[in-house]
Amino acid sequence: MSKEEIHSSSRLHRLASHLLAPMASEKEAALAATPSDSPTIFDKIINKQIPANIVYEDEQVLAFRDIAPQAPTHILIIPKVRDGLIGISTAEERHCEILGRLLYTAKLVAKQEGLKDGFRIVINDGPNGCQSVYHLHIHLLGGRQMNWPPG
Ligand code: AMP
Repeated sequence: MSKEEIHSSSRLHRLASHLLAPMASEKEAALAATPSDSPTIFDKIINKQIPANIVYEDEQVLAFRDIAPQAPTHILIIPKVRDGLIGISTAEERHCEILGRLLYTAKLVAKQEGLKDGFRIVINDGPNGCQSVYHLHIHLLGGRQMNWPPG
């Protein structure tokens, strides 16, 4: 291998690890998390025991900026009372009202954030879905062009 090839290959390696590292840690966090109905970090946010950048709050719903944003706007929308909703896969018919409210809140927050050219909402579920916090949450992502299919 020539000096130039070695140089450009190590640059490529650095670039790849820079780009892949955050994705790997998100995935690792998700795979390390165990589905459970134990209290989560989101309970501490709801109870104001730890700070969060809250962008919307009403009696049933809280929305705050994700601590590790994956887009210029990345907001999590959660029910204040989990009531068994550790993820979307544990939803029951009695949850229909709060599920609708969470989606509607996503629309309100998207408008509040000025995402007039569009946005994406995501719910990760379980280890295969890369869920790391077992308190149902909607990710609202916007402020850049999204790609499809997702990773
Ligand atoms: P998920 O991987 O779908 O379960 O999403 C959980 C999200 O919660 C991740 O995007 C994390 O970055 C985010 N997160 C974890 N802890 C906090 C926190 N203290 N404040 C805001 N976002 C958080």
